Amino acid sequence: MGEFDLIDRIRARATTRDDVVLGIGDDAAILEPPPGKQLVVTADTLNAGVHFPEATRAEDIGWKTLAVNLSDLAAMGAQPAWCTLSLSLPGSDPKWLDGFLDGFLELASRHGIAIVGGDTTRGPLSLGVTAMGFVEPGRALRRDGARVGDDIWVTGALGDAAAALQSLFAGAALDRTLRARLDRPTPRVEAGRRLVGLANACIDVSDGLLADLGHICARSNVGAEIGLDALPASPALQRFSPAMRQAWQAAGGDDYELCFTARQELRDEIAAAMGGVAVTRIGSIVTGQGVRALDADGNEWRPPRTGYTHFE
Ligand code: ADP
Ligand code: MG
Repeated sequence: MGEFDLIDRIRARATTRDDVVLGIGDDAAILEPPPGKQLVVTADTLNAGVHFPEATRAEDIGWKTLAVNLSDLAAMGAQPAWCTLSLSLPGSDPKWLDGFLDGFLELASRHGIAIVGGDTTRGPLSLGVTAMGFVEPGRALRRDGARVGDDIWVTGALGDAAAALQSLFAGAALDRTLRARLDRPTPRVEAGRRLVGLANACIDVSDGLLADLGHICARSNVGAEIGLDALPASPALQRFSPAMRQAWQAAGGDDYELCFTARQELRDEIAAAMGGVAVTRIGSIVTGQGVRALDADGNEWRPPRTGYTHFE
């Protein structure tokens, strides 16, 4: 099966939208953004062995490839619309591609996002997406809007994916719910939409809470204090020792939850507005720089590492 057969296989299964004037099949796509909206664009690539274990199922790779990009749109408060898909594949394997598309398109249909083009080449397994969405002009959630006195919040639970990865590396038995949190993260798209007009700043937790909250602090020129004991943990994480659990929650990464800041007066409104997604208050924005994590006794806690960075 050649490059064009693979592309045909994608086109045959991809659903489209009314605002796609011209989708897969020409030299480029033609898209019609709705009048009066701003276009939000993001790109993320997953490489085998770097962003997912080599043995990950094709379906899960497909899901995660789109999920990490939807998570970036969510962190901006954007409504997903379109994406491109760049595949670097070691060989032409229609069965692998079908599995990949199963996971990718299942998540795509949940969020009404259409594949409008892409690129298909031979090389080490690497999956790239550019995702596009819409936001009301000037209303996107950004990293630079945090104010001293803001509450710091996080959606869902932290640390599950890091726990799963660690267990995999250690060859330990792995809880299925933890494994699913690593392989099939839930992008908080709806939560991000609901935070427009409420949150002052927002980021998605991909590299680890301390590292990502640190980006909000740097861009907003403020500091942050968070309580280790306040970090939300899933039931599946409870069976690990507090020391391991807290390191994964604060610095593990791959959570794809949203971390956001908002004025204290909005506490009740935020708790009520999230449409079934749990939100937890974990600390406050303060004057100064950087993120301080405090243990139950109020002592500063330093993680074994703050978060994932490439080239280190
Ligand atoms: P060109 O050589 O002009 O870049 P390609 O042969 O790369 O064209 O692609 C042909 C068409 O198929 C284009 O519309 C492109 O966007 C689409 N396409 C290629 N690869 C993919 C893919 N992995 N997913 C979706 N569309 C793809
Ligand atoms: Mg091309």
